[in-house]
Amino acid sequence: MVGGTVEATRVGQNGHARGQAVADAATLEQDALEHVWIHSASWADVSDEYGLRIFDRGQGSTLWDVQGREYIDGLSGLWVVNAGHGRTEIGEAMAEQAGKLAYASSATFTTSPAVRLADRLAAITPGDLDRVYFCSGGSEAVETALKIAKQVQAMRGFPRRYKIIARRGSYHGMTMGAMSLTAMRNEAYFGPFMYGVSHVPHPNRYRSDFGVEGEQADIMAARYVEQEIENQGPETVAAVIGEPISTAAGVHVPSPIYWQMLREICDRHGVLLIADEVINGFGRSGKMFAIEHYGIVPDIMTMAKGLSSGYAPIAAAVVRQSVFDSFKEQKTVAMGHLLTFGGHPVAAAAALKNIEIFEQENLVEQSAEKGAYLMERLEELRAHPTVGDVRGLGLMCALDLVKSKETKAKFGKDSSFATRLNHLSLERGFISRVYDAMHFAPPLVITRDEIDRMVTITDEILTIVEGEFAADISA
Ligand code: PLP
Repeated sequence: MVGGTVEATRVGQNGHARGQAVADAATLEQDALEHVWIHSASWADVSDEYGLRIFDRGQGSTLWDVQGREYIDGLSGLWVVNAGHGRTEIGEAMAEQAGKLAYASSATFTTSPAVRLADRLAAITPGDLDRVYFCSGGSEAVETALKIAKQVQAMRGFPRRYKIIARRGSYHGMTMGAMSLTAMRNEAYFGPFMYGVSHVPHPNRYRSDFGVEGEQADIMAARYVEQEIENQGPETVAAVIGEPISTAAGVHVPSPIYWQMLREICDRHGVLLIADEVINGFGRSGKMFAIEHYGIVPDIMTMAKGLSSGYAPIAAAVVRQSVFDSFKEQKTVAMGHLLTFGGHPVAAAAALKNIEIFEQENLVEQSAEKGAYLMERLEELRAHPTVGDVRGLGLMCALDLVKSKETKAKFGKDSSFATRLNHLSLERGFISRVYDAMHFAPPLVITRDEIDRMVTITDEILTIVEGEFAADISA
C-alpha cells in the first residue's frame, strides 16, 4: 500500500505540514523498497542511502523528490525529457485525445493522431524516410528494425541474409533481439543470444582500436565494418546498426566520412543501414536527428525517448520508401510483427504536441547553442588530472575520466571512483551518470545558470574525489 499524499512535501510548508510530509515520504520509501522492482539497480544500490529517490514533481530542468529535495535533471531522466518537465499542454492534448478515443486495434486499423504523427515524422526525418512503424519504447523500435531488415532481405530474394553487425560498447536495448546487439549483454544469465550478431569497433578517436588518431581512426573503423561484411560473407548480412553518435560507448562524435563510408559500403554489399536515434534524436545533438550531421539517409531509423519527451511511451522504426516497396510489390505479404500499443492515439497526441513545442520554441537550435556553451564550460575541467577528454555535440556531452592522462587508463564503470562521484553529485542536487564517462544531457530548455551550476558542482566533486583517490591517480 502506498501511504499518504505526496502533495504535502512541497517546499514552503508550515512545521506541521512538513512533519507530515517527512512521514509520508518515509512511508513511500518503505513501500517502494517492499514492492517496486527498480529496473537495473542491485539490491545494494537501492537499499543504500543514495539508492532510492522517489520523484514527485518537475519543472523545466528541475526535479523535486518526495522529501522536497531539489535536483538539476542533468540527464533528462534517461535522455528522454528533451522538452523539459511540467509541460501541461502535452497533458491537456493527451486528456483531450483520451476523452475522444483512447484505443483502436493496431493490427488492422489506425487512428487520426497516429496518421498525423506519421505524416509529421515523414516530414521531419531526412530524405525518403517516409513509412512509420509505431511501437512503445526504444527496445521495441530496435527489435522492429531488426525484423524489418530480415524480412525485407528475404522478400528481396535473400533469405540467407540474416546477420546483423553492431558495434562494441553500444547499447540498443534489453529485449532479447535488441540485447543481442547490445555490447554489455550478460551471457551468463541470458545467453545464447540471437544467432548471427557480430560486433565491430566503433569510431573512437580518443582510444582508437587501430592506434591512429583523428579522422584516420574513424576511417579505420568504417573499413573494419566492410572487412566484417566480407568475413561474414556479404550474402549473409542483413544490416549494420549504430547510433550516429554513440552514447553508451562514451559520446564519440565521428567525422562525416565515417557515416558516408558506411552508407557507401552498405549500398555496395546490399546491406541495410540502421541508425539508432533512440537517444540521438529530437534535438539532442543540435540537429533534429544526429544523422543529419553526416549528410546521409539510413534505410531504417529508430526513435523513442525524445519523440514524446517522455510524456507517453511511444517509439517508431521509420523506413525509406525503397524498404517498404517490397510490401507494395508483394501485396499479400504483411510484416510478421504486431504490437498492441503501437501508435497508441493518446501517446501519438503527446508526441504531436511535443513536436509542436519543438518548433514553436526552436528547441533544436537551443540545443546547438546551449550545447556549445556547455562544451566551453566543460573544457575548463580539463585541468583536472582525471579529465582525459571532453566530448560532445549539442546537449549530449561527456567527460572521459581516467586514472592517467598519459595511459588513458579507465577507472571502470562500476569502480568506487564512479560510485562516489554519482553519490556526491546526487547529494549536491545534480543528476548525472558516471560510468567510464560522466554524462551531461539536460533538457533542451536548460538555462545558462543551470549549466553553470552543473559545471560548478562537477568541478567541486571531482576535486573531492581526486583527493580521496589520490593514490590511484597519476597527475
Ligand atoms: N537504443 C538506444 C541507443 C538506447 O540508448 C536505448 C535505451 O537507452 C534503447 C535503444 C532502448 O530503449 P528502451 O529503454 O526505451 O527500450
